[in-house]
Amino acid sequence: MISCVVIGAGPGGIVATKELLEKGFEDVVCLEQSNTLGGVFAKGYDNLLLTSSVTFSMFSDFWVGEGKSHSFWTKDEAVKYWKDYAKHYKVTDHIQFNSKVETVIENKDGSWVINLNSVEELQCKHLVLAIGNNNIPRFPDWHKQLNNISYSHSKDYKNADSFKGKRVLIVGGGESGSDVAYEIAQVAKKSWVSLRESTGWIVPRKRGEHAADVSTHRGIWDLPREYGRHLSPFVLKLERGRKDPVFDVLADLNERVPAKNGIWGIYGTKTLALPKAVAHHGCEIVGDIVQADDSQKYLIDNQGKVLENVDAIVFCTGYRNVVHFMPDQLKACDPRSMFKHMFHLDYGDRIAWIGWARPGFGSQFPIMEMQSRYAALIFSGDMKLPSKEAMKDYIQKDLKIYQDQFEGNAERIRSLVDYHRFMNDLSKIIGCYPPLGKYLITNPKLWFHLMYGPTQATQFRLKGPGKKEKLAKEIIFKLPISTYNHIVKAGLRGRIRYAHKWLLSN
Ligand SMILES: Cc1cc2nc3c(=O)[nH]c(=O)nc-3n(C[C@H](O)[C@H](O)[C@H](O)COP(=O)(O)OP(=O)(O)OC[C@H]3O[C@@H](n4cnc5c(N)ncnc54)[C@H](O)[C@@H]3O)c2cc1C
Repeated sequence: MISCVVIGAGPGGIVATKELLEKGFEDVVCLEQSNTLGGVFAKGYDNLLLTSSVTFSMFSDFWVGEGKSHSFWTKDEAVKYWKDYAKHYKVTDHIQFNSKVETVIENKDGSWVINLNSVEELQCKHLVLAIGNNNIPRFPDWHKQLNNISYSHSKDYKNADSFKGKRVLIVGGGESGSDVAYEIAQVAKKSWVSLRESTGWIVPRKRGEHAADVSTHRGIWDLPREYGRHLSPFVLKLERGRKDPVFDVLADLNERVPAKNGIWGIYGTKTLALPKAVAHHGCEIVGDIVQADDSQKYLIDNQGKVLENVDAIVFCTGYRNVVHFMPDQLKACDPRSMFKHMFHLDYGDRIAWIGWARPGFGSQFPIMEMQSRYAALIFSGDMKLPSKEAMKDYIQKDLKIYQDQFEGNAERIRSLVDYHRFMNDLSKIIGCYPPLGKYLITNPKLWFHLMYGPTQATQFRLKGPGKKEKLAKEIIFKLPISTYNHIVKAGLRGRIRYAHKWLLSN
């Protein structure tokens, strides 16, 4: 019997396999249905550019190369990085390509039997599900009425060629939806984007020469989330002050975000693609579609606006969390009912989900790495999971906090988490939270980098299990730190505000 099987060789499966290998599981097997690694990014649309910077997207212990910190990978560059990483850490030797998992069966002794599309069958003690949550496209119900209007899902979108000269509706304005809208708006005769309320809180990828997410640092994110109510109007005023039509559209859309904590009550949409489509390419924002007349090719939104002669629709409406090959009780698991979105209460250390925690801001890759480190510690027996009761308590506590922070979005997007909260919590459980207080006294330069440099994965390699202190320091000092910009200033103002509040209440 194999000790661990990882299903999927996207970034989540690669980092999980690497962490298991580092923990000493020499027989780990990573099963990938396609003939290459990289997951979503190996088959994404032609112009896919990541929205998290290279600094945030890199894994903790594999340097990205000099001079790249403020750039954003194309999908090919991202896949190349993961290929190099997999080669460096000897993960590639453990990936079995063209191996689609058809069924997973639970044995009485707690082990798993995995049947592949070939005749092959594997048996393992621990299972890692790293299949992403971009597998089964989700559509609104009204799509069933469509026969005359052609439609597709962003999962299958490659480029705008087939939309030239057409009248096209894009449904949904997340990061993929925004990119799709921007490309189509440039070649279509007419384009609309249908949004339920708004999109996420839009921020540019870059501010000047700097990747904007370099400001995703402890200097501001250590403040209570209700501070988002003060931060949001300030950021909006700043964007409007630019007197740039793209930023005016951005501010209009962000003003529509129905979240009491504003920017901190929703996920980020880290691209200007949609504002550019609207400001420069005539794309029109409409409301939720409530009526479709397929034979006459028109649609009506919730404001009564009629979209006439619609030729094509692209649904950028996300995915469903269903894993058909798992046993019935594990086919549709709710990320929010799992401990740290990865351990099922009834299955303990037998199975871990990697990649079902989607951060509002920050990046998903450091989260997948942190989860992988934890899974490897649990599988190896170096750490024990808390008792079922304690895990239940954690889950309830997390749920309450996220309901308060994200309101309806916490219900709707079951994987949505707060990046800083998630990374800090899990690193404290693992024991790799950076010792900030100690560094403030002993190594102020490092402390400054930890506070005002991006809170990316390397910060969590300074101590505890899996520590690589020398390498971590080298990398952290090479990474950019924030300039003294509006975010740093807002962070300092916030600290004064809460210190004052604290003094008054004590
Ligand atoms: C267009 C797009 C852009 C994104 N950009 C960013 C970004 O800039 N920054 C960021 O942090 N996050 C980004 N994300 C979110 C997230 O990081 C990605 O979705 C990421 O690919 C998730 O990695 P994963 O390994 O969990 O899943 P995936 O990349 O989906 O990989 C899963 C792998 O599992 C394999 N698999 C599935 N089923 C089976 C089976 N039955 N048998 C064998 N193998 C199977 C698949 O073939 C695939 O290779 C983006 C997501 C999308 C869709």
